[in-house]
Amino acid sequence: MINLDWFQPYDGTFYSIGVIYAAVCNLPHDIRFKRENLLVLGLLPGPNEVSLHKINHYIAPIVNELELLWSGITLNQTFECQNGKNIRAALVLISCDIPAARKICGHISALVSCHRCMKRANYEDHQHNFAGMEDMENWFITRDSTEHRRNALAWRSCNSTNSRKNFVSEKGVRWSELLRLPYFDPIRFIIVDPMHCLFLGIARWIMKRIWIDECVLTLNDLKQIQEKMNQFKIPADLGQIPGNIERGKGFRTIQLISGEFSL
Ligand SMILES: [Zn+2]
Repeated sequence: MINLDWFQPYDGTFYSIGVIYAAVCNLPHDIRFKRENLLVLGLLPGPNEVSLHKINHYIAPIVNELELLWSGITLNQTFECQNGKNIRAALVLISCDIPAARKICGHISALVSCHRCMKRANYEDHQHNFAGMEDMENWFITRDSTEHRRNALAWRSCNSTNSRKNFVSEKGVRWSELLRLPYFDPIRFIIVDPMHCLFLGIARWIMKRIWIDECVLTLNDLKQIQEKMNQFKIPADLGQIPGNIERGKGFRTIQLISGEFSL
């Protein structure tokens, strides 16, 4: 799995450096994210974040190696196989915050449209918003990765900056070098990483501000969720099942528990 994030190495000035790094999903969970097991695949120099599709210049050499790994390579020697070993590897997950995930996979900004379903933002008072859940059956439809690829190729063959800009506004897609990987699904292989999703509260925000405040979930739904949750048997170190979600309590625990399970 690959992660891309930017950080500020200096105090008192804005200077963003990006890092693309990978974790090996075959490793056991408790050592998968240890510093010595992470692979730094690329550094994106500052001072500003690389914009839009220009990130492809950094991804292209990584994709070259992923293509080789997909077709199979031979390691000369490993700890268990002194005479060498044939291996294959695939990229199965892009795990970043929402803006980085959109950028690396060639989706339009998260302010404009959802990358998984057909929901598009409204534009009012010079701001985008995703209000309006009542016509859900019209847009709660999974996007098609084949169509995404087709649109990404069409974006690449646009012959001017303006035509590319218009194309993105209409179709919501740019070319990403990751699409060179034949197995890569730009819709399903993206998740919001647990740090942003759980610890910085995105899941909680969606649950509370959209599903509850916009009345997508009724009091009765919350009671049913509570009843289902009460049947969970979870390991002691994952915390407790919240007991009062219909009264708006315990969403942090819900997100932590669901996060652990979804991992
Ligand atoms: Zn959506």
